[in-house]
Amino acid sequence: MKILVPVKRVVDYNVKVRVKPDQTGVDLANVKMSMNPFCEIAVEEAIRLKEKGVAEEIVVVSIGPAQAQETIRTALAMGADRGILIQTDDAVEPLAVAKLLKAVVDEESPELVVLGKQAIDGDNNQTGQMLAALLDWPQGTFASDVEIADGKAKVTREIDGGLQTLSLTLPAVVTTDLRLNEPRYASLPNIMKAKRKPIDTKAPSDYGVDTAPRLTVVKVTEPPKREAGIKVESVAELVDKLKNEAGVI
Ligand code: AMP
Repeated sequence: MKILVPVKRVVDYNVKVRVKPDQTGVDLANVKMSMNPFCEIAVEEAIRLKEKGVAEEIVVVSIGPAQAQETIRTALAMGADRGILIQTDDAVEPLAVAKLLKAVVDEESPELVVLGKQAIDGDNNQTGQMLAALLDWPQGTFASDVEIADGKAKVTREIDGGLQTLSLTLPAVVTTDLRLNEPRYASLPNIMKAKRKPIDTKAPSDYGVDTAPRLTVVKVTEPPKREAGIKVESVAELVDKLKNEAGVI
């Protein structure tokens, strides 16, 4: 079985993002970029399926600027086999990403696509669902456990107040939640080995996909600053403040 894992290069989760003064977006100048954490979990899950003998090949694909090659290399160093970079400097919205991924699926014929449940930059949580719809494949989103057997994927999903288990007929789309696994760090020998693994570079036009944006960002603003707390003398005072100042009870 071949597994396709789309990985996105995003602002590192440790970075405190700053909004640009003109409110058009966040400042990306000199900011550390890394693989989206949910995509790392997707890569790890694919590698575990390969280690179990369920999968033979893991192909990672990233849509983004030339530097997204580093993100692909990280996945190759973790244990993926080869990469595809669909290079573009434009911001590509989830629908266009899903269309490009569909074209890659048509070419590569994987039996499983494992994506992150969301990218932590745009927080869209759309690409996996759109890809499943375009392919007309079953989908298991927010997976906290995945088992493959007899041409089916058993996917446990984290839903409000509990867990839901689905049985999907392969080929299928799965998106990863935080508790699915803990991604490994690449060892130095594997980082060296990854340098020799192949990465194909393509352009969106190679797949005939129009990536022109359909959405306009009106503005991006900082969250309101948190005000300092105060100490109250008694429960009565606390209740009074909650009622008359905060207006929450
Ligand atoms: P989103 O729908 O943007 O929150 O992203 C969900 C998932 O879709 C990510 O975790 C990736 O697996 C995949 N994805 C989104 N954008 C890209 C991209 N530019 N390149 C590769 N994969 C992507």
